[in-house]
Amino acid sequence: MKQATDNSNSIATLTLEQETNPWEAQSLRFDEAARRLNLDAGIWKVLRYPSREIIVHIPVGMDDGSIEVFTGYRVQHSSSRGPCKGGIRYAPDVSLDEVRALASWMTWKCAVVNIPFGGAKGGVICDPKKMSQGELERMTRRYTAELIEFLGPEKDVPAPDMGTDEQTMAWIMDTYSMHMRQTMTSVVTGKPVSLGGSRGRKEATGRGVSVVTDEAMKHLNMRPEDTKVVVQGFGNVGSNTAHFLWKKGYKVVGIAEWDGGLYNANGLDISELLEYRAKNGTIHGFKEGEAYDKDELLLSAVDVLIPAATENVITSRNAAKLRCRVLVEGANGPTTPIADEILADKGVFVIPDILANTGGVTTSYFEWVQDRMGYFWTEKEVNERLDRIMTDSFQDVLQYSIAHGVNNRIAAYMLAVDRVAYTTKQRGFYA
Ligand code: NAD
Repeated sequence: MKQATDNSNSIATLTLEQETNPWEAQSLRFDEAARRLNLDAGIWKVLRYPSREIIVHIPVGMDDGSIEVFTGYRVQHSSSRGPCKGGIRYAPDVSLDEVRALASWMTWKCAVVNIPFGGAKGGVICDPKKMSQGELERMTRRYTAELIEFLGPEKDVPAPDMGTDEQTMAWIMDTYSMHMRQTMTSVVTGKPVSLGGSRGRKEATGRGVSVVTDEAMKHLNMRPEDTKVVVQGFGNVGSNTAHFLWKKGYKVVGIAEWDGGLYNANGLDISELLEYRAKNGTIHGFKEGEAYDKDELLLSAVDVLIPAATENVITSRNAAKLRCRVLVEGANGPTTPIADEILADKGVFVIPDILANTGGVTTSYFEWVQDRMGYFWTEKEVNERLDRIMTDSFQDVLQYSIAHGVNNRIAAYMLAVDRVAYTTKQRGFYA
């Protein structure tokens, strides 16, 4: 029988492997929030574990005539507040524990921004950079077909994540629609606008990160024009975040990519950098910035640091050396629980992932609503609604943190767990 606290490692006894295991990190924060909420022991057990974990082995005909078999996952953590919602990741290091953690984070995120979804996540172990479009399409369609009875607009609605994009979502939508014998656009979000996607979805996560950064500035009496920012990752989230902040007058002094960084103490022109990257396929060689060590960039003396690349980049190994005043988590799970404690001691103001990067899922919710209405909003309408939800959610978390005397991360978890626990109890248990 599962015990409510059977896996509650204390932070002091974590090994490095446990420290960087996203599922362990999620569980520690969840347990802490549940304990502070004095959560009913039964509900604690229900919410601590995903409700369903599916593993598929997908045969794919490769371009050279061989057959490859890829392992894929879909984890549905909770459907208590509505259909499960969460992205699909294609990467060589996808693991079940990672997908589990990401699925539960989706539950908490949807609850923090108060949208009517539960949480799920999917992943396939593959290297999309080494696969042709044809191979990716065949793998995506078979993965979708394997999961067909578990997906649906009222069951589980995937979206893009690392290694997947709007083309991937178009293939999933088409495959699902072929099986259902009718076009069903609302089975996935993050689609091309021409196929039922929402205006503003592509930029939404970065936009949301910039809105909560603005709110933090107001709360801390800081001015954007005096604020130096470093962003790690220049993919969807990182590049859009940097672009929005640059347009709002922040000085984006550094960008760290996987193969090196770029720095300019006076601020980089992000619009020009985006054009340069589009032309050259890399940020390196951009004349207005000097090459800089990517790990050193995270430790530079800036006001705001925004990890927007991947998990576990701020750990017990580097947290003490961070010099930022504000940490805004664009990526999922960039900070380990040990690093959290170090940052708290240093007084860093953290905007946790389950609040900071919810702009994407919020606009996915708008996309789902528009698909089901068959009526599409202007970009201005989408952006105004998104900005309002991000601003209100930041204030909800901040007020929760003040009222309960906890840091922003635990406040966000407490707010989310409380909301999900409420509906779980309200629905009761079948059989
Ligand atoms: P992406 O693949 O578009 O971009 C990731 C970028 O990070 C790439 O440019 C990659 O080169 C870079 N990168 C990878 N490892 C790095 C490293 N060690 N150091 C520096 N740069 C590195 O992915 P994305 O969609 O921007 O997602 C980034 C993060 O944000 C992930 O954690 C993802 O789960 C999270 N997230 C994404 C969305 C979304 O809407 N796309 C929403 C919420 C959260």
